[in-house]
Amino acid sequence: MQTKTLMLAVITLAAVALAALAQPAAPAYDLLLSGGHVLDDKNHIDGVMDVAIKDGKIAKVAPHIGPDSALKTIDVKGLYVTPGLIDLHVHVYAGTGERNSYAGDLSVPPDGFTFRVGVTTVVDAGCSGWRNFEDFKDRIIDRSKTRVFAMLNIVGSGMRGGHYEQNIADMDGEATAAMALKYPKTIVGIKTAHFEGPEWTPVEQAVIAGTKANIPVMVDFGADRPTRPIYDLLTKKLRPGDIYTHMYSGLRHEQDPATLGPSKAFIEGRKRGIFFDVGQGGGSFKWSLAVPMIKAGFIPDSISTDLHITSMNSAMKDELNVADKIMAIGVPLKEVVAEMTSHTAHEIKHEELGNLSEGAIADVAVLRVETGKYGFTDMINKRFDGTQKLLCEITIKDGRIVYDLNGMSADLWNAPAGPHDAEARRWTTFAPSSHAAH
Ligand SMILES: [Zn+2]
Repeated sequence: MQTKTLMLAVITLAAVALAALAQPAAPAYDLLLSGGHVLDDKNHIDGVMDVAIKDGKIAKVAPHIGPDSALKTIDVKGLYVTPGLIDLHVHVYAGTGERNSYAGDLSVPPDGFTFRVGVTTVVDAGCSGWRNFEDFKDRIIDRSKTRVFAMLNIVGSGMRGGHYEQNIADMDGEATAAMALKYPKTIVGIKTAHFEGPEWTPVEQAVIAGTKANIPVMVDFGADRPTRPIYDLLTKKLRPGDIYTHMYSGLRHEQDPATLGPSKAFIEGRKRGIFFDVGQGGGSFKWSLAVPMIKAGFIPDSISTDLHITSMNSAMKDELNVADKIMAIGVPLKEVVAEMTSHTAHEIKHEELGNLSEGAIADVAVLRVETGKYGFTDMINKRFDGTQKLLCEITIKDGRIVYDLNGMSADLWNAPAGPHDAEARRWTTFAPSSHAAH
């Protein structure tokens, strides 16, 4: 080899080596939550673990993942890392302008009430029926950052008020099933609610729809009628896997009057595989039921809000506040988190959510347990005192931060630029845009 050629080869090699030094290999992960206490019921994880995320998915959960292996590492020591919470019962068909209607003014837009409390997925409980579901989908579901699922009301017109909701002629299990089957990724259940008549028609038609579409029925059992007792509902009419919401309301013999524990209907229903959901709402949660029933061991399968325009500012407030109440009675945090994640996902047959399995959708909540003196109220404005309160620090949806209460993921304002700043969009929705800000 000639000297000149050799020199060129050496120079080229040196240049390649220098370039390699200047541009270290891209980290393996987009985002790393380091040192948090992971609560992942589905995978039986209850301990300190690192959680790595890449391309919107959970990439690895392990005791020690190197902090340099991600574009962004956040120290979450002392905090709890859970799957993104799933609120099984909300009302979010807002924006139609209809007065006194859950397909209108009584509903709220989901994004204002979800990420700030760790919720990444909500289930609208029957605001729309088969006639107006597609309008709901266009107005809200397709435009929200929150993942919005729906339970179709068995009433074709949905939850538009008494005039519509008492109309037996508009309860069509076949038409409802057909709409559910048209949108199987979005419609996760059938809802019957607020019915005041003596007939079983709404429940029976809902079960027809739920059976055809292979999805659960959720029941708000409406007025208490001797012709349709709760015992028959839970032991005969509903199928295993169906859901009884407003479990601590006391409006329809949920409680045994002698023991103050769960009624015989509740005990038999749970044995059959009926799920029991909180759904606090505006008028569906009483301490005089929740306390003795939980102390008797009848804890919720799922903790949900029944979020709407009234409940949001009254006793209910938000998903974490309802969870705080269940904890205040004595249910451990680990169980309470399961009731908002893996259990809920199981109830709506969306097992891909509510867990931190490797490869799962990276929806994550980072929660702080604060201690102090807190008061929690019920539907008749009675108070139960507690010493723990959940606070959401960070919410991640599809692998990117969508809420960060204290800017834990942000750099200090006067810190030098980091090596991976240009790729921040991979792990956060808050990366500065190259275009003018709004
Ligand atoms: Zn409701």
